[in-house]
Amino acid sequence: MNHLTVGFDVDDVLLPSADHTIRWYNRYHGTQLTRDNWYVNLPISVWKASTEHEIVERVNGILNSDDFLSEITPIEGALQVLDELDAAGDEHFAVTSRPPLLAAMTHRALELCYPGKFPEGVVTFIDHSTASGRINTMTKVEIAVAKHATHFVDDFEHHLRPMGEAGITPLLFGKGYRWNSDAKTPGLARVSDMEELKEFLQYERTK
Ligand SMILES: [Mg+2]
Repeated sequence: MNHLTVGFDVDDVLLPSADHTIRWYNRYHGTQLTRDNWYVNLPISVWKASTEHEIVERVNGILNSDDFLSEITPIEGALQVLDELDAAGDEHFAVTSRPPLLAAMTHRALELCYPGKFPEGVVTFIDHSTASGRINTMTKVEIAVAKHATHFVDDFEHHLRPMGEAGITPLLFGKGYRWNSDAKTPGLARVSDMEELKEFLQYERTK
């Protein structure tokens, strides 16, 4: 495959959102949450919140804060993967379920971690997490097809499930992510970390 076009999810693929958001949440609210609480709002008592909606609002507030940017670091090895894609003349883009209200802060975080790699237009926001987003029917696979992706990297199995049928190689990212530890989709390749992803893409380039 001479030319790769690789799509990346943002949260917990390009940005360490689970660990970083939980760290700030614990500081703000005196909780003792861990990465295993990420995406698990119940019981709401451990979040010291009154409603699930309040948890979502607080999390979006953290993601939209300067605090979040202050200690943000890239996912280990991801910059090298992107550099190698650039060096090989390949292409990349990002798609996130983050709502558009987080677009400006997301761009700032990506710029801090990956300078020059994700300019405006390279990241698509499809919003599955707010009330308005629930009526948004755009899916990641539709974006990936429109971008002529050859590969898509995500930490959620359900975004990847339709990719294979669309001719896009789905890559399930991350180890120690409770939310994808029992993935069973046939044909789904797992890449535990960016080193594995780099090696996988190197191999794909030679095919
Ligand atoms: Mg993600």
